[in-house]
Amino acid sequence: MSKRVVILGGGFGALAAAPLLARDGYHVTVVEKNEQLGGRASVLKKDGFVFDMGPSWYLMPEVFDRYFAQFGKKPSDYYDLVPLEPQYRAYFDDGTLVDIPRDIDETAAVFDRLEPGSGKMLQKYLTTAQEYYRLAMDHFLYTPMQSYRDLCVLPLRAYPSLLQSLRSMHSAITSTFRSTQIYQLLTYPMIFLGCSPTNAPSLFRLMNYVDFKQNVYYPMGGMSAVVSALVALGKEYGVEYRVNTPVETIVVRDGKVSKVVARDQEYRADLYVSNASYPHTESLFSDQSARRYPTKYWQKKVITPSAFLLYLGLDTAMPDYLHHTFVFSDAFEQHFEHIFGDPAWPQNPSIYVNAPSKTDSTLAPAGSEVMTVLVPIAPGLTASLAEKKRYAEHIVQLLEQKVGAPIRPHIVTQQLFSVEDFSQRYNAYEGNAFGDLSNTLLQSMLFRPPFSHAKLDNLFFVGTNTQPGVGVPPALISAQLLQAELHKMYRTNT
Ligand SMILES: Cc1cc2nc3c(=O)[nH]c(=O)nc-3n(C[C@H](O)[C@H](O)[C@H](O)COP(=O)(O)OP(=O)(O)OC[C@H]3O[C@@H](n4cnc5c(N)ncnc54)[C@H](O)[C@@H]3O)c2cc1C
Repeated sequence: MSKRVVILGGGFGALAAAPLLARDGYHVTVVEKNEQLGGRASVLKKDGFVFDMGPSWYLMPEVFDRYFAQFGKKPSDYYDLVPLEPQYRAYFDDGTLVDIPRDIDETAAVFDRLEPGSGKMLQKYLTTAQEYYRLAMDHFLYTPMQSYRDLCVLPLRAYPSLLQSLRSMHSAITSTFRSTQIYQLLTYPMIFLGCSPTNAPSLFRLMNYVDFKQNVYYPMGGMSAVVSALVALGKEYGVEYRVNTPVETIVVRDGKVSKVVARDQEYRADLYVSNASYPHTESLFSDQSARRYPTKYWQKKVITPSAFLLYLGLDTAMPDYLHHTFVFSDAFEQHFEHIFGDPAWPQNPSIYVNAPSKTDSTLAPAGSEVMTVLVPIAPGLTASLAEKKRYAEHIVQLLEQKVGAPIRPHIVTQQLFSVEDFSQRYNAYEGNAFGDLSNTLLQSMLFRPPFSHAKLDNLFFVGTNTQPGVGVPPALISAQLLQAELHKMYRTNT
């Protein structure tokens, strides 16, 4: 009889783990609280508009290729990837606008316009970024780490790069470029790893390599097309999926999980894997003394930012925006300070706008546009509905001022989503947006919770909960690391 696995939660980590474990001979059931699978990559359908509620950047395509290759498949067996050209647009507070093209020499010319001579520096900067990318792909991301000893498996030649990559992004960039606009372009992606330029190691300039050299693609249908691909793959291997099934109690007995009690029924298995937030998972234990991390542990950690999101359906196309647009603010440092230092609603934030209907006409009625407006904010920053509506109005006005195109007369539908919604919908700790623990240096690699629970023999974790960290590609990698770990422990079919 094959072993049974129950996976709590249906985010990317779970959806990637399920087919791998099923292929290894496990009988896998995924138990998701919400009405749809995908976790933070949920879809909102409203008044004829379709919104990707979460991730919108399909980055590190190599990770997706490697994932599907394990099944003898390719992403294109499930979804079409469209290259974006230009890749994105940035507006700066002084009125400058730049479009980032796919071609690196053209991008260097864009940099030269922002700071004479910086195009050449960019090429050099990206050579190091490429080294960091390979270092991470070959030695860190796909390597589970539990102790300092695991770091020693690095080949000697990797140490100089490793040491160099430990300085902060802030220091790496300010020692290379003078332009604040270039600084903003290169550091803003750190937010999506849950970091600020000062607490992110410059190893993360690998994100700049990914962005500028591996380029930006869009999976037609949105990130939900990737969710559907993983679910289709899982079904090919017999995975069962249950939605609308919140787990309410994890019953703990004799150093093991004996069953989980969900709203509909009890689930018993040999192994349990949680893709739900780590502190939330432990809060469900019937015996709280089995917790690995007390509440205090989480209070001391850097948690990823939350996001103030506005999903807007507009009755007109918005030619001043591209598929991906950044509207940067001069109060850049202050915005980061309001996220990581002194939590407050940023009054002049840098804003990200996602308008995928530019590329995918199925997402909005003809001649109209879907726009998701994202302002990163501090986790735990709550507000009343009236305050949030006022803030939404303020953000839309800022966009109108800075970009110049009227938005308010064109809104036909809108939905707010913020801290409380992340807590309620996903049980995200402090209502964070990207995954509980930020990928700061001291919360990366061996400093993240391991795959197995220290006190409960048959409980494991997958997704941003554990290694390697935050984002969709890391969630896919974590599933592969978990599978390898279980294979080592239980030696199933493969
Ligand atoms: C607005 C936004 C933009 C983003 N942009 C990007 C991007 O462009 N690119 C990128 O790579 N990443 C991006 N991210 C981050 C990325 O979406 C996440 O890091 C990733 O999806 C997390 O996946 P996960 O598997 O760890 O878990 P989650 O997606 O958090 O899934 C966990 C699941 O567990 C379920 N659950 C919780 N409690 C229970 C329970 N008691 N019982 C049953 N189920 C439960 C939840 O409902 C959820 O479905 C973005 C996120 C957001 C919100």
